[in-house]
Amino acid sequence: MPEPDRYAVIGHPIAHSRSPWIHAEFARATGQSMVYTAIDATPAALGEVLRSFFDSGGRGLNVTVPHKQAVLGLMSSLSERARVAGAVNTIARQSSGTLFGDNTDGVGFMRDLTINVAVPVETRRVLLLGAGGAARGLLSPLLAAHPAELVIANRDLARALELATRFAAAGPLRACGYDGLAALAPKPFDLIVNATAASLHQQLPPLSPGLVGPGTVCYDLAYGPASTPFVLWARAHGAGLTCMGTGMLVEQAAEAFLLWRGVRPDTADVLAQLRASGG
Ligand code: NDP
Repeated sequence: MPEPDRYAVIGHPIAHSRSPWIHAEFARATGQSMVYTAIDATPAALGEVLRSFFDSGGRGLNVTVPHKQAVLGLMSSLSERARVAGAVNTIARQSSGTLFGDNTDGVGFMRDLTINVAVPVETRRVLLLGAGGAARGLLSPLLAAHPAELVIANRDLARALELATRFAAAGPLRACGYDGLAALAPKPFDLIVNATAASLHQQLPPLSPGLVGPGTVCYDLAYGPASTPFVLWARAHGAGLTCMGTGMLVEQAAEAFLLWRGVRPDTADVLAQLRASGG
């Protein structure tokens, strides 16, 4: 009997990842012969760990914090959405042995936001916190959904400005640091998306309460059993709806699975199980 095909998620830290469980469920439901593990790689070790995984026959990787931009230079080719985002979250080894980089974060996020949670983006005012790998993947699909405006706020202002320049042609986009937010946005946003890694460290970006109102949806990309500081902050300041990134996690995983195995697994059952287990 042939060995199952090998896949993994690579990141640092990685112990919190639910991706191995999700892909095992997808594989079981679709009858695919594969194993999926988690690999911890520091930024310094990334290139070597990645090469060794593929040299030893690995078929595909998911890429998470903080490597999504760093792996770009290790790819032989990129999908259009990875090229536009300037970030890779899914790698497939092709039959020629070369590495193809894709980005399924944006489509996974939009499926969860607009279908699972049923939150519209068109004509809404959107605040995106963060300018890292995940934020890059979200920008293009968010702008394609025609918001009234999109503001990017980041601790490192230069990174936010770089994204605003890069995506300027795609829609009404402005960038600022956290201290410039109140002046730029005097009334609450309709949607605030936390795409920073702050929640992973139980931290909260420096946000002023005036950003949130009863009509505001606050979506934290982070996921886990406990509400994040951002979700607690949003509730404390009267946000209309809060959600965390479990749905995005499952939807982006399904897109990666489709790329690797040619079949898109059903996500509803896996998402329900994850939520029931406090995912
Ligand atoms: P990166 O390391 O690429 O980027 C991190 C971003 O967070 C940067 O903009 C950084 O700002 C900002 N940041 C980090 N700490 C703080 C802090 N204490 N206060 C304010 N800003 C901070 O990470 P990713 O973009 O890959 O991931 C970001 C988050 O999204 C993570 O929590 C990750 O788990 C989550 N995620 C969830 C997914 C899902 O499917 N649910 C999918 C992808 C990501 P600066 O530039 O100033 O350093």
